[in-house]
Amino acid sequence: MPGSLSRLLSPGSKVGLTTTIPVEVVLAAGLVPVDLNNLFIASPQALQWVSDAEAEGLPRTICAWIKGIYAALAQHPEIRAVIAACQGDCSYTQALGEILASRGVTVVHFNYPYPRDKARLAQEMAEFMAQLGAEPAAVAALQAKLAPIRQALAELDRLTWETGQVSGRENFLWLISSSDFEGDPDSFALRLNNFLQEAVTRPPVKDGLRLGLIGIPPIFTDLWDHLEELGAQVVFNEIPRQFSLPHHDGDLTEQYYHYTYPYDITLRLRDIAQAVAQRRLDGLIHYTQSFCFRQMYDRLLREHLQLPLLTLEGDRPGPLDSRSRMRLEAFVDVLR
Ligand code: SF4
Repeated sequence: MPGSLSRLLSPGSKVGLTTTIPVEVVLAAGLVPVDLNNLFIASPQALQWVSDAEAEGLPRTICAWIKGIYAALAQHPEIRAVIAACQGDCSYTQALGEILASRGVTVVHFNYPYPRDKARLAQEMAEFMAQLGAEPAAVAALQAKLAPIRQALAELDRLTWETGQVSGRENFLWLISSSDFEGDPDSFALRLNNFLQEAVTRPPVKDGLRLGLIGIPPIFTDLWDHLEELGAQVVFNEIPRQFSLPHHDGDLTEQYYHYTYPYDITLRLRDIAQAVAQRRLDGLIHYTQSFCFRQMYDRLLREHLQLPLLTLEGDRPGPLDSRSRMRLEAFVDVLR
């Protein structure tokens, strides 16, 4: 398609994602998706990258994920295009997109309609396909190709909450990677299937407190391990599970319509309440990010979810600070 991203970039070029967007479209356009959040947080230099972004003029009082994305792109000049979702994810990405565009990065916007509206989402999806140069038939083929991988991730999730054969940390890492399938769905599927074959041979784990982790993905690196040391298992990673699109939908628009993260909180509340009951959760940890507007949802979550809830705030990447560790210990003690 003339003027589309796939015409601008050579096949196999990497395209950065600021959040989960319809990855089927990126792959169908012959491009390689790279979740910039994962690129940032996986780097051993993540903390330094945040400081680097501040040294370049990004304010201290904005979220570290945004600075991490900015710095990740500076470290990876081969990523010359970015897909940003201002609506449905984060308004900071609007200004970030403009800064990136001023530096020659091509920025394509994908906006989840707010309020949630299926017709508007279908229209946005069609415009996104045109912008990227992805044919609808190719997108449908990609959706069909990813469906068994999404099912395998749902099975991995079941092995976390039903049998305990997959740890909370493993669950988090696999599900969070489904935003971009690490750029290569074939090799992702192969590794996932190997992992599942090994996981089912593990003895089931029945003991311990059962926790749900809700809110945006934590910037802390050792949260799950610390909770395990305290005898508590995270058996529900809310948003990473949503990234894997665990619903069984025939249509791509329907699939992203049922994705709870980008719309108002009603869908999320329903999804969390269902998990609380099905997974027999003892308590919830609501992770909030410093300087993030989503902190305001804490009140609604507390009002609507009838379960002990600890709000845990993080700022910069790295291990848990001593205050957070103590708060987690006290919370687990109360639940015992
Ligand atoms: S944590 Fe909040 S402020 Fe930071 S990128 Fe995500 S939505 Fe935006």
